[in-house]
Amino acid sequence: MVDLTRRFDVLVIGGGNAALCAAISARRAGASVLVLEGAPKFYRGGNTRHTRNMRCAHDAATEILTGPYTEEEFWKDLLLVTGGQTDEELARFMIHESKDILNWIVEQGVRWQPSLGGTLSLGRTNSFFLGGGRAMLNALYRTAEELGVDILYDAEVIDLTVEDGMFLSAQLKQPVGGKTEVRASTLVAAAGGFEANIEWLKESWGDAAANFLIRGTPYNRGTILKMLLAKGVREIGDPTQCHAVAIDARAPKFDGGIITRHDSVVFGIVVNKHAERFYDEGEDIWPKRYAIWGRLVAAQPDQIAYIIFDSTVVTSFMPTLFPPIAGATIAELAGKLELDAAALEKTITEFNAAVQPGTFDHTILDDCATEGITPPKTHWARRIDTPPYLAYPVRPGITFTYLGTRVNREARILMKDGKPSANMFAAGEIMAGNVLGKGYAAGIGMTIGSVFGRVAGREAAKNARN
Ligand SMILES: Cc1cc2nc3c(=O)[nH]c(=O)nc-3n(C[C@H](O)[C@H](O)[C@H](O)COP(=O)(O)OP(=O)(O)OC[C@H]3O[C@@H](n4cnc5c(N)ncnc54)[C@H](O)[C@@H]3O)c2cc1C
Repeated sequence: MVDLTRRFDVLVIGGGNAALCAAISARRAGASVLVLEGAPKFYRGGNTRHTRNMRCAHDAATEILTGPYTEEEFWKDLLLVTGGQTDEELARFMIHESKDILNWIVEQGVRWQPSLGGTLSLGRTNSFFLGGGRAMLNALYRTAEELGVDILYDAEVIDLTVEDGMFLSAQLKQPVGGKTEVRASTLVAAAGGFEANIEWLKESWGDAAANFLIRGTPYNRGTILKMLLAKGVREIGDPTQCHAVAIDARAPKFDGGIITRHDSVVFGIVVNKHAERFYDEGEDIWPKRYAIWGRLVAAQPDQIAYIIFDSTVVTSFMPTLFPPIAGATIAELAGKLELDAAALEKTITEFNAAVQPGTFDHTILDDCATEGITPPKTHWARRIDTPPYLAYPVRPGITFTYLGTRVNREARILMKDGKPSANMFAAGEIMAGNVLGKGYAAGIGMTIGSVFGRVAGREAAKNARN
């Protein structure tokens, strides 16, 4: 039974990677720590439950990573994917700290495994959690409990009392026990982004957001972020920027996870509901392009699109939860997809006619391209002519949003006037916009949470002692 009448040194709001790293780090620094996880115990851990890997810099190959990935290379990758929209000081700090995280996370009970194969080719840059994100979380929870961190589930924070940049208390709502005021010397906000709040998404995306599917937890509604911004915290990032991929249109509204993502785009063509192509499916290798397709589909009428391919490529990519929809003819496939059959036949006929001879190799930018059509398919273009014809319907799958709270290198929240908050810190998705202005490179979400979570916990504990 957690004694909620006492004043804790550190209150952590959230129950995912960032929250647990903060809680463990604060506890190891000698602080009393309370974690409030809004979700029930079974659903604890937010989007972290769905993760598989983390991107960390390292100077030499390790037991599980195939080669060096230097700080400079990590920085260049980040610069490229964000188009320069990143805070260089914070990003370089995170990258530097990521080196140490590889070992620190193991000290917290997490185990690594060699990279999985597949289309993202991450064996050199990303470390994979043995057993995935759920096993990683279980290890962190176990360690936190053993260290004496108090944890409450079904414990949604519904209000914060903040005066002149100083956190005083949080109001907690529980299904049994009702509302309780919780006091602490410092706050670590690690409550995720606002991706599960469709109404908030609509403010930037309009009604299109109603058609978005949310890949992760329904509990990340951005309530803590909204409260902090309303209480004078400086915001960072653009509300329309987020990580979004193409996922199966048959996926559930929330929590479909990794098995709903489609990695088959480069092996076929993608058409909208008018059966028209709208983007170069072979623009670049998949790890550099998978994260643009959510936005591309979001811009199409009714936010729906269809990946179309034929039976020759069906074993070339990771299968997903959903089987492809099949037709013996293109017209039959079109009928099943409720597309105009003549329009789909025309698109595929024109595409096939434009395909030039080449040597197919999906691991490099090969010479299989189209000529004379718009948009072109600049690599991996092959005729779609061997029945059965197959399709996956896809919708934008929102992973997480980037609008967040501004922080400094101590993970300390900055107020609107630029001054650091007296006792508030933030880590994870809720401050991801400091590093990710736009774009994404696989595995950075967990780097942001682990690095800034660890720092936030340590600094919050120090702050509580002073
Ligand atoms: C399908 C999928 C796959 C992914 N794969 C990867 C991957 O392999 N590698 C990678 O780096 N990133 C991946 N990501 C992104 C990654 O999940 C996030 O970047 C990371 O988990 C964020 O950690 P976090 O602790 O900030 O947020 P979360 O893990 O989402 O935790 C937020 C927590 O806050 C709680 N919360 C919210 N509001 C309140 C409130 N008012 N009161 C109390 N608690 C509250 C939630 O219940 C939740 O526990 C993936 C995401 C998804 C959806």
